[in-house]
Amino acid sequence: MARMTGRAPGHRPLLNRRLAEFGTTIFAEMSALAARTGSINLGQGFPDTDGPEEVREAAVRALRDGRGNQYPPGPGVPELRAAIAGHQREWYGLAYDPDTEVLVTAGATEAIAAALLALVEPGDEVIALEPYYDSYAACIAMAGGTRVPVTLRPDEGPGGGAADRHYALDLDELRDAVTDRTRLILLNSPHNPTGTVLTREELAAVAALAVERDLLVVTDEVYEHLVFEGEHTPIVTFPGMRERTVTIGSAGKTFSFTGWKVGWVTAAAPLVTAVRSAKQFLTYVASGPFQYAVAEALALPRSYFDGLRDDLRAKRDLLGSGLAAAGFDVYRPAGTYFVTTDIRPLGEKDGFAFCRALPERCGVVAIPNAVFYDHRDEGAPFVRFAFCKRTDVLEEAVARLKGLAAGPGESAGRRSQ
Ligand code: PMP
Ligand code: GLN
Repeated sequence: MARMTGRAPGHRPLLNRRLAEFGTTIFAEMSALAARTGSINLGQGFPDTDGPEEVREAAVRALRDGRGNQYPPGPGVPELRAAIAGHQREWYGLAYDPDTEVLVTAGATEAIAAALLALVEPGDEVIALEPYYDSYAACIAMAGGTRVPVTLRPDEGPGGGAADRHYALDLDELRDAVTDRTRLILLNSPHNPTGTVLTREELAAVAALAVERDLLVVTDEVYEHLVFEGEHTPIVTFPGMRERTVTIGSAGKTFSFTGWKVGWVTAAAPLVTAVRSAKQFLTYVASGPFQYAVAEALALPRSYFDGLRDDLRAKRDLLGSGLAAAGFDVYRPAGTYFVTTDIRPLGEKDGFAFCRALPERCGVVAIPNAVFYDHRDEGAPFVRFAFCKRTDVLEEAVARLKGLAAGPGESAGRRSQ
């Protein structure tokens, strides 16, 4: 038996070449760094407070009553599929048949993987908005597709300062990226990591292009209830999109239970059938009792959703102004958990080096946006901070970051937690 050294007999690498470029995810690396150094973790996007008590109790009840403790039905429990269809109708006026047009998944992560594995043929091109969420690249690769990044760049905002600038989609660049091999556009709005929310005009243009070139659209809308300015508009509501759009949602962000891993797909029946074909061989099913709890959560009154959004908006403003005071250029996000900053005003230009040094310098962990880029140079000076944390934690982080302007070599006022 050969020793397991990362290479198998015959000197073939163990990890296949589709995945060779993907190491450990940045989220795992940075959360481990936070734990090791006792730093405040503003890296990985998870809330440090659980969601509503009644939703947690609903999960406990389901567990106790023996609902979902054995394999739930492959497409998801009927109660949850009905609640997802009800949510799409209530919020967006969209009608989906819970039996044929809704599929429950193990978080949005599995929905993304299943959609790409189902819909992409080896050699197909998939357009993704760069910077893009890290699992997109890996799933496109696992499906044998070729990713084609279209870069979002800060536009010239009205005030001239970073805070007023929207990360905009260059519609000419998007149009030029489409070839005869393009199968689908993988969209994400509200967008991780920039926090940008695509405008109606941008969404309309993407939809028109998809119709014109007969493309599918897979749209990751897990932050749909975290839009701070204006409203969320699903791209499926644009003309010609109902039959070609796979919409992905998740309970993780909307109800602050990221560990439950309940996500879903809504799409026309033939698309759901295709995605389910892949999904059934990934997890088959997951999260039984949590599915019942999320069904109840989706029926919470609007005041819950408004409260979540208002709370996160206040946290965005708290961390955003703290980062600005600490010397960062801050791109105020219109949605999500995340604020992107430019570190150049601090005399820095390499986000990786900056993030690796930050725990030592001031006891805070953040994510270098460069990991979300194929064009690493474009992303080099940008760093993402998560604000889905308790107010006192954000205040402490802001206090620690204040000392940064002193420079890397000098004491930045690190405190013990
Ligand atoms: N898409 C985006 C844009 C995300 O930020 C995340 C991480 N929360 C996911 C998908 C994964 O969602 P889930 O935890 O439901 O798998
Ligand atoms: N979506 C989370 C983020 O962007 C991380 C999820 C994960 O760790 N895979 O921070």
